[in-house]
Amino acid sequence: MPDNHQTIPVSLPRPHRPLGIAVVLLLLLAVGLLTYRASERAGLSQMRAEASHQLDILASAIDSEVTRHASIPSAVELNPDVLALLRAPAERQDTLQPAANRFLQQLNDHLGGPAIFVLDTHGQVMASSDWIFSDNLLGSDVSYMPFFRSAVSGTPARHYAVDKVRHEPGYFFALPIRDEQQEWKVIGVAVVKSSLREIERRWLGQEAPALIVDSNGIVLLASPPEWRYATLQTQSRVALEQVSREQFAGQTVGAVSLDIALDGADEGVVVRLPKHLRDDMNPLPGARPYLALSRNLPGTAWRIVVFSDLRPVAVQAATHAALATAAIGCLLLGLLYLNQRRRLARGREEARAMLEKANQELERNVAARTADLSEAVTRLKSEVAERQRAEQTLRAAQDELVQAAKLAVLGQMATGITHELSQPLGAIRTLSANAVEFMRRGDLATAEKNLGIVGQLSEQMGGIITPLKTFARKSPAVPAAVDVAQAVDSALFLFEQRLRKQSVAVDRQIAANSWVAWCDRNRLQQVLVNLIGNAIDAMAGEPERRLAFSAERASSGQVALAVSDTGAGFTEAALEHLFEPFFTTKQPGEGLGLGLTISRDILRDFGGDLLAGPAPGGGARFVILLPPVPSTSAAEKDPS
Ligand code: ADP
Repeated sequence: MPDNHQTIPVSLPRPHRPLGIAVVLLLLLAVGLLTYRASERAGLSQMRAEASHQLDILASAIDSEVTRHASIPSAVELNPDVLALLRAPAERQDTLQPAANRFLQQLNDHLGGPAIFVLDTHGQVMASSDWIFSDNLLGSDVSYMPFFRSAVSGTPARHYAVDKVRHEPGYFFALPIRDEQQEWKVIGVAVVKSSLREIERRWLGQEAPALIVDSNGIVLLASPPEWRYATLQTQSRVALEQVSREQFAGQTVGAVSLDIALDGADEGVVVRLPKHLRDDMNPLPGARPYLALSRNLPGTAWRIVVFSDLRPVAVQAATHAALATAAIGCLLLGLLYLNQRRRLARGREEARAMLEKANQELERNVAARTADLSEAVTRLKSEVAERQRAEQTLRAAQDELVQAAKLAVLGQMATGITHELSQPLGAIRTLSANAVEFMRRGDLATAEKNLGIVGQLSEQMGGIITPLKTFARKSPAVPAAVDVAQAVDSALFLFEQRLRKQSVAVDRQIAANSWVAWCDRNRLQQVLVNLIGNAIDAMAGEPERRLAFSAERASSGQVALAVSDTGAGFTEAALEHLFEPFFTTKQPGEGLGLGLTISRDILRDFGGDLLAGPAPGGGARFVILLPPVPSTSAAEKDPS
């Protein structure tokens, strides 16, 4: 038989499984990381492009606002009223001032700016567009402001500052005013203040955090507005106080430090705002990474910076990484599934092939066995037929033997029978001769009496001959209910002469019809004749000669008929070979050694048996076991 118990590998072999899982996990991790990095890079570059675009917009807005006011001081420089005021000696200035004020007011109204004013070379305001307000700048000293120093020395300046009067921040454009009549000597400074309100409005309106930082690193404009006047980096108090004094009219600056370095921010740099900003300056939660992109504003010393929250980039990168990992995972699972399917299919195919092979083998075996079996059946059939033939032959031989044995018994009895018959025959002869004589004499009564006796004697002779005829008859064995006592009597009758002659006492303890067995009467009689004959032979030289018959019910339910004698009994060797054919201790011509063999066969044919053993008081004891009458046939009794 082929080995059908092979396991079909449908997954990684066990020792390789942890390794495979580790490799897959590493692969997924690598894919996740690479995707995260790539997505982050792409997100950053896109964010940088967007921030740059935003910077462009903001820068151009500031630029246009600044340049709009840049040319105004030139117009002031050319005004004769202003020039006259600046040229005039101190005592005349009061009379010339109103004309200059009006000019400046008209110009300012036309431009919609917050203020235009003119300074003398000491930094004192000589004329101002806001002369009509009570809190005007006239007479105030702005020499402390950096733009003044630059302008009075002949260099135009622009500057973000807070004026001391209104404390209003603004962008100041300062231009030196030169006098043509005094060899272009600087006689004053024209200043335009731009409020930058428009820029501020736009600034605050935008969502993305952004700020404008001046050259001192101070935030001038910011979204969120809370960052205004904060510093990028922590600065010394002395420096901050000076800046505050000069530029911011004493207003506090640098109270908050954003603590960020913008080196390389032109290309974009990742910064983290300090944690403490989280609570007090909520708009930009601290401790989070931001992309800071900055640019110098042309024509100014300012830098503009925009911040982009990197969280969406991180979230998007994480999403992309998760998606890529999931996709690769799905792909791997798909591949694994296909691989498993392929293995399963191959396993099934192998199993099917093995099964088919086993089937073919089985069929071959079955065919071979069937051939063997039918051969054996044929052989058995012929053996059975042969046995049946042999049995028939044996049975025929047995019948012949039984018959021969009967005839042998009859032969042995012949002398006795002749003697038995000769007596009544002689009497019949005498009585019939006498009867003839008495009839001749006319004595019919005596003749009749003689003939009556003749009849009785004939009947007596018939009584001797009829059992012999019955015994000698060759008849087939037919089982019937047989009275055991009657069978014993019939057998004893045949030995009457010998029993009497050898003075054998017969002890028959079986009452008529007390024991009925299921057998053939003639065959049972044959067995009994054998046993009785052997017993008489065995007791020939014994002083006490007694033949006893008894019956009882065996434990098996059979009728046990015991025949005991007071003969010599058996030797141990004789008992061993008793039922073997041709075993005899008798002289040649006296016995064939077949009697017991045949007797046992006869009984076994009926379902009975024959057993031999020593009798209790010495001698031999044979037990004939006979089947009981079947319950359905209890009523039928052998009529003969
Ligand atoms: P046969 O009578 O021709 O010898 P049997 O088969 O009837 O053949 O008996 C076989 C032998 O069994 C006898 O020769 C005898 O030795 C022994 N045998 C049979 N019956 C008795 C008996 N009642 N007592 C002693 N021996 C017996």
